[in-house]
Amino acid sequence: MNRIAFTLEELQQKIEKTCNKRQIFQDNVRLIAVSKRQTAEKIKKLALRGQSEFAENQVQEAIDKIETLSDLALSWHFIGAIQSRKCRQIAQNFDWVQSVDRVKLVHKLDQARSQLNDFSRKPLNVCIQVNLFNEPQKSGADKETAFELAEMIESTENLKLRGIMALPPKQIDAKLQRLQFDEIRSFYTHLAYKYPKIDTLSMGMSVDFDQAILAGSTMIRVGTSLFGERQ
Ligand SMILES: *Cc1c(COP(=O)(O)O)cnc(C)c1O
Repeated sequence: MNRIAFTLEELQQKIEKTCNKRQIFQDNVRLIAVSKRQTAEKIKKLALRGQSEFAENQVQEAIDKIETLSDLALSWHFIGAIQSRKCRQIAQNFDWVQSVDRVKLVHKLDQARSQLNDFSRKPLNVCIQVNLFNEPQKSGADKETAFELAEMIESTENLKLRGIMALPPKQIDAKLQRLQFDEIRSFYTHLAYKYPKIDTLSMGMSVDFDQAILAGSTMIRVGTSLFGERQ
């Protein structure tokens, strides 16, 4: 077994162990491999070991890899800051976009997805990126905007509201990290009360996915501890 395949297996075991602590069903926690600034070759190795979902944050870099690896049945998530002029490429090349945080992106993504010339076209899965701790340097919607976005996304034909994505501040103390995840989870529950079909709470990365899972994450996004340092 090559090294990255071994790392994937170890990571899956860690996730399983965390899930077992709280009797969380492991299938309810999806692992997204964050492949930004990693090679197509490494992605392929993971794909051959059954990892099928990958995330990128630069449009052109991602499209190159999506084309190179088009013979594999992979799903691609866009998790980077969205420039409105890139909406078309995002909507036409990705399966998911997790970083929608502004009203003006919704119509553009919907329009672009509708132009996809494909009989099997499915709606683009969307998560609203939230910024609940008022961090000015990060993108993400506040609570009020998130509700507004949810309503807009729900009213489109080509976008499907799946949930929220969060990138809370880093905390060294695991308890503090956990409190932040609990707060995000609580907002998600609030949103799910109004939109009961949503199913995705995307939070947790290499350093903190265990706390995120314990707080109810359904999707973790792991980069460095799977691929190693980025180029
Ligand atoms: C880079 C990135 C990750 C992965 O971070 P790691 O620390 O490498 O696991 C997760 N989410 C987002 C939004 C990112 O940009």
